[in-house]
Amino acid sequence: MHLQVLSSGSRGNATLLRAAHTTLIVDAGLTLRELDERFEAARFSPNSIDHVLVTHGHLDHARSAGALAKRERALLHSAAALQSNASIRRCKNLNTLTVGAAQRLPGRRGDDGVSASSVLLPHDALPTLAFKIEHDGRCAVILTDMGMPRSDVARALRGAHVLVLEFNHDPQMLQNGPYTPALKRRILGNAGHLSNAQAATMLEELAGEELHTLVLAHLSEKNNTRELALEFARAALSRRGMDHVRVLIAEQDAVGENIQV
Ligand SMILES: [Zn+2]
Ligand SMILES: [Zn+2]
Repeated sequence: MHLQVLSSGSRGNATLLRAAHTTLIVDAGLTLRELDERFEAARFSPNSIDHVLVTHGHLDHARSAGALAKRERALLHSAAALQSNASIRRCKNLNTLTVGAAQRLPGRRGDDGVSASSVLLPHDALPTLAFKIEHDGRCAVILTDMGMPRSDVARALRGAHVLVLEFNHDPQMLQNGPYTPALKRRILGNAGHLSNAQAATMLEELAGEELHTLVLAHLSEKNNTRELALEFARAALSRRGMDHVRVLIAEQDAVGENIQV
């Protein structure tokens, strides 16, 4: 299985996962035109998308999910509460995800596909999910948009070979930055986003022996720096004796490396 982040951040999120005969995309938060540009940059033809999974209803994740699934005749998966969402409703080929349970997403040629399980996250769009995708003994976890660290979430998502984890902000930069007081409170709150230190706490609990690549995701362009996020991630891995783990940063404006899970 391969994982490639196509876009990450508050202006749009999308991650491509390609297994032997099954292709899925987690979130489609860019416009269709922008997504097509990213597909082209990734040398990927979107008509091979079998499944579109949506983490939550915020536009930077759900914007084109319905339209993309409809155009590519893919099956759209979301939590039940999200199926009235205007973007999701554009696709009639809908599957309801059972939160907390693993579900088989079939492949194209009778192949047994991939397994996807979802976990509920504290965030101010209800519900918000993280995904654990498994294929052929390999595991990828995508966890963004989380308000505070939670041990039960970490336990449920352990075992990733590749982990995409939100490192959203530095609280000091946020406090001193240009956002309105209300937006600052929202981001800092328990249903907002993970600070670098909170993400590091999650990382320490999530990281197991099998982890080989960590992707820092959903970095704030105004309230974080790549250096700070990297520093916190590296320190957390070091505390776990895992300095060998490769650390990448997901970009807002460019497709990332196509990572072998
Ligand atoms: Zn987001
Ligand atoms: Zn969100």
